[in-house]
Amino acid sequence: MKAAVLAEEAARLEIRDLTLAPPGPHEVLVRLAASGVCHSDLHVIEGVLPVPLPAVLGHEGAGVVEAVGEGVTGTKPGDHVVLSWVPSCGHCYYCGIGRPDMCDEAFSIQMLGTLPGGGVRLGDRGQEVYHFLGTSCFAERAVVSERAVVPIRTDVPLDRAALVGCAVTTGYGAVVHTAQVGRGASVAVVGLGGVGLSIVQAARLQGAAQIIAIDRVPEKLDLALRLGATDVVDARGTDDIVTPVLDLTEGRGSDYAFEAIGRPATIEAAYGMTRKAGMTVVVGIASPDEQISLNAFAIPSAARILTGSWYGQSRPQEDIPAILDLYMAGRLDLDALISRRYRLEEINDAFAALARGELARGIVMFGGGGGEGDGR
Ligand SMILES: [Zn+2]
Ligand SMILES: [Zn+2]
Repeated sequence: MKAAVLAEEAARLEIRDLTLAPPGPHEVLVRLAASGVCHSDLHVIEGVLPVPLPAVLGHEGAGVVEAVGEGVTGTKPGDHVVLSWVPSCGHCYYCGIGRPDMCDEAFSIQMLGTLPGGGVRLGDRGQEVYHFLGTSCFAERAVVSERAVVPIRTDVPLDRAALVGCAVTTGYGAVVHTAQVGRGASVAVVGLGGVGLSIVQAARLQGAAQIIAIDRVPEKLDLALRLGATDVVDARGTDDIVTPVLDLTEGRGSDYAFEAIGRPATIEAAYGMTRKAGMTVVVGIASPDEQISLNAFAIPSAARILTGSWYGQSRPQEDIPAILDLYMAGRLDLDALISRRYRLEEINDAFAALARGELARGIVMFGGGGGEGDGR
């Protein structure tokens, strides 16, 4: 089967013909329909996020179950599924306290590049190829843990469903679960990729009164306005995105600020644009080597809550179907998040466009399907 392989850091992805072993116990074989192109994949390509290589990247996928291994009870061949990149174990400390997003076992699997059982199912002429985030969905097929599979309704187009595997669940959950934004709140969003635009939409659904969207790409600011932003800050040619937010909030700062880029400077700015006793939520993934700098006096005197949100603090088995119901009810726009569709062979073009900041979301389509013209 064809897959996009990252052989070494800072290289282009190579389309190779790989072997894929059949699913073992508690594993599932999925034929991919679509896989979104996410900044976390780009971080790996750039060497910012180190993972075992060679690997098949891709962690925002949706497809159809083709076969299941022994002992699988939660899904069956023919099911439409979204892949989850946090295959929580259900028995560690964090799963026990109701925080599967922090699952110790899922985290260690992500670092090892294997499936939860410790095995690798991908191969290249006898050499093992690692799984990225337990999903590896820049490939025609993937073998994943049953815990990484979320069955969904069959009337959702699978390219739209794929986005909910990472970007949408991350942004939506940061607003609904982590910050618990309430009616009438003011919200600032720094960075308008697939995650940031999902934060904008979730804030609108929660009844936020003011949603300030910040980016350097005018088209994304326009899109944010269409999706519910009330104000925009064009960050082209300036390093100061704090003052415009203060100006829009009577000098106080916003009740909530979300950082959806993962850069120290924008994390510090998000903290600075949060009002006293407000909340800053870092959603963007920075390099593990980077530090931020905060004024020590401001920590008690401004009493802001600075927190983070990993995969939207979600419970994928419940949240992903619920988010897709919002889409099908016309309350959440996933169509607008897809900027461009690519064939697997064009994947390096998709990453180049992402690196240039052109895309809300680019998506790789499999099986020759364009995903458009499905009546929606
Ligand atoms: Zn992602
Ligand atoms: Zn766990």
